Amino acid sequence: MSAKRASAGSRIAIGGILHETHTFMEQPTAMADFAAQSLHFGEDVLSTMRNSRTGIGGMIERALEYNWQLLPTLYAAAMPAGLVTEGAYRKLLSELTNRLAQCMPVDGLLLALHGAMVAEGELDAEADILAQVRDIVGGKTPIVVLLDMHGNISPRLVELADVLLAYDTNPHIDAYARGLEAAEIMARLLRREVRPRTALARPALLLPAQSTGTEATPLSLVHARAAEIEAEDDVTCIAVMAGFAYADTPFTGPSIIVTTDNQPELAHMYAKELSDLLYRHHKSGLPIFLQPAEAVAKATRFERGPVILVDSADNIGGGTTGDGADALAAMLAQDVREGTIVLADPEAVDLCWTAGKGAEVTLDAGGKVDDWHGQPVTVTGSVRALSDGVFECELPDNHFASFYGSTVHMGRCAWLRVGGVNILLTERKTPPLDLAQLRHIGIIPEAQQMIVVKSAVAYRAAYIPIAAAVIEMDTAGLCSANLSRFPYRHLKRPIFPLD
Ligand SMILES: [Zn+2]
Repeated sequence: MSAKRASAGSRIAIGGILHETHTFMEQPTAMADFAAQSLHFGEDVLSTMRNSRTGIGGMIERALEYNWQLLPTLYAAAMPAGLVTEGAYRKLLSELTNRLAQCMPVDGLLLALHGAMVAEGELDAEADILAQVRDIVGGKTPIVVLLDMHGNISPRLVELADVLLAYDTNPHIDAYARGLEAAEIMARLLRREVRPRTALARPALLLPAQSTGTEATPLSLVHARAAEIEAEDDVTCIAVMAGFAYADTPFTGPSIIVTTDNQPELAHMYAKELSDLLYRHHKSGLPIFLQPAEAVAKATRFERGPVILVDSADNIGGGTTGDGADALAAMLAQDVREGTIVLADPEAVDLCWTAGKGAEVTLDAGGKVDDWHGQPVTVTGSVRALSDGVFECELPDNHFASFYGSTVHMGRCAWLRVGGVNILLTERKTPPLDLAQLRHIGIIPEAQQMIVVKSAVAYRAAYIPIAAAVIEMDTAGLCSANLSRFPYRHLKRPIFPLD
């Protein structure tokens, strides 16, 4: 019998709450931050997210093919930043639980979560969410959860869900595909084809964001082996979690979740094997970091650009401010021709808008939000263009679209030209996930000698295809690869590389 007919008419509740929380960052994440990115309730979840390349978009698509009766709750996703406020967390949770209670009875629940969300007073937000929804749907109703592979996973979360799966890629370009898979697994659970038995294994290890690319070691090795194991009949799915080192919790770090069909020992054996494999190779992933001045000098010597200067300590996708100006200072000091940087700086944007297109302005750029991201740089330049900061991504599947959809809103923007350097000033911090970010205002990425990207790995999908070279910089910022800079309190010790 086809999946379609066997489960047609099933009542499946669906929803999502996603946030990657940088617990060392001072700026909290409030309801307004969810509203600014993606916040939808009830039927609006289906109409808005259905055609998006998000995880929930994939779930909805497959569910409709199966003729399930979808019962939408809410979908909320905010840009990575500091702790989710207690008010925002309680509000999101009560919207989810109240709406789910109204959907009852349900045959299953599909959830999109991140895995590294931390709220004020709640270190394990995802497990707390699962506990609450489990209370409502009961122990026998299947719950399938799609996670970001940067999630930090507690045993409690694994216990509360039936099946956990995660993006297999970083940059995250398979969120939609994994959403389809989540629904496919739900269909198998509804048909009682799979009795999920899950194991979690964790190496005593932290991976800085810079080591979490899936095309590079160590994760490429783990994924290669995981794919072999996943091909076995008794293995339902494997989540290779890189963890998010900047969320300080007792279960922070990489982990492996293996789900089998009624084979608990097999699940345990494979989880342990993959966890050990990751531990053996974890040091292979860290790049060499140059000081910004050295990096800029090196980039200048290339015959053609763009050379990508990676400002991974100010990794916006990891929650940082996006206003670190170390690399800007280095480019200006060396009088670079055709260098580009994007800075989130609403104050500077406002000055440019007030001055108007074509005007000459002097302002302090960047370095304003906190003390972690360096000092402002005083610049004098001309306002080349102004924009509303809205663009459509060129890449259909990209890291940004995997959470929020493919229309990006950066707030008002200004292109300030200082000597030979292009500064794209944005009101809202926006990671470098798509070349349309620069192109929408008239900056041609291919014509640059060097481009600074505030990202650890996520920039690669858009920028590697045009890059003449990539140089990693040791800049100031809250996503530094040097984890000994962070005052951990909750982390389980000993752990590499801190102890
Ligand atoms: Zn992620």
